[in-house]
Amino acid sequence: MKDAKTVTADGKHFELAANIGTPKDVEGVNDNGAEAVGLYRTEFLYMDSQDFPTEDEQYEAYRAVLEGMNGKPVVVRTMDIGGDKELPYFDMPHEMNPFLGFRALRISISETGDAMFRTQIRALLRASVHGQLRIMFPMVALLKEFRAAKAVFDEEKANLLAEGVAVADNIQVGIMIEIPAAAMLADQFAKEVDFFSIGTNDLIQYTMAADRMNEQVSYLYQPYNPSILRLINNVIKAAHAEGKWAGMCGEMAGDQQAVPLLVGMGLDEFSMSATSVLRTRSLMKKLDTAKMEEYANRALTECSTMEEVLELQKEYVDFD
Ligand code: PEP
Ligand code: MG
Repeated sequence: MKDAKTVTADGKHFELAANIGTPKDVEGVNDNGAEAVGLYRTEFLYMDSQDFPTEDEQYEAYRAVLEGMNGKPVVVRTMDIGGDKELPYFDMPHEMNPFLGFRALRISISETGDAMFRTQIRALLRASVHGQLRIMFPMVALLKEFRAAKAVFDEEKANLLAEGVAVADNIQVGIMIEIPAAAMLADQFAKEVDFFSIGTNDLIQYTMAADRMNEQVSYLYQPYNPSILRLINNVIKAAHAEGKWAGMCGEMAGDQQAVPLLVGMGLDEFSMSATSVLRTRSLMKKLDTAKMEEYANRALTECSTMEEVLELQKEYVDFD
């Protein structure tokens, strides 16, 4: 079971990946039989440190993860600090709405964050020869932001090659889809990126305008709401229209009630906590893709509430 491929009842393969925060987590990824790391949250490298981690320190961490995965894909997200993740050694202005503020890629492509971002990109590029590296940028709203980050990637790659440092030539560069603007414009992004990874934790927060940490508005955290499903479907279809792949690394990817819908919409990669992998693999074995497609299509076109989506699920999925 651990080393089995993830296939549906009708034999279609879906990639089950795991989310990690540190190189130590790789052991759990392999123990639970994940086929890839779908999200390495690198901000922990910054948060567990007294100062900005150096290029060498970062290189060692990325290399350890790539080697630990033994050639399987590793999606590394560039630093996603800001919001609720503060760094004691990085002086950030106090903001009224930090979740809507200067954070993640917005810092990386600013003058303030440029040196820090280049250090991270160089460390990643150097580590790329030790496995199958994929890089993704968090919190992208505009194509301009993706292009600015990609330009840094291209420049630092050229610099390293000019210095005689080896860099892999097959590094995919993608973005997280966690801002509704990017989800709506996914067809345009898909022409330029190598892949999407849908960050539902934030995508739901921003679509519902409901703070994901605030208990009082937690009823608005609705992964199965048709509005969220339509955004997700738009992203997957846009990726496929350009021959790209779409994954998901938010909590929803490992949610057993969401998996049938995501299979039906054709999501390619599911990244979740390592401990959810085997359970999800067993569930997928019971699902028929044509049936799930019908279910997803009906949920997308006929349902107006999340309750209706879940009620409809009973016609298509038997959980026991
Ligand atoms: C997300 O937003 O869904 C996500 C995976 O990123 P994080 O939870 O780290 O914001
Ligand atoms: Mg996020």
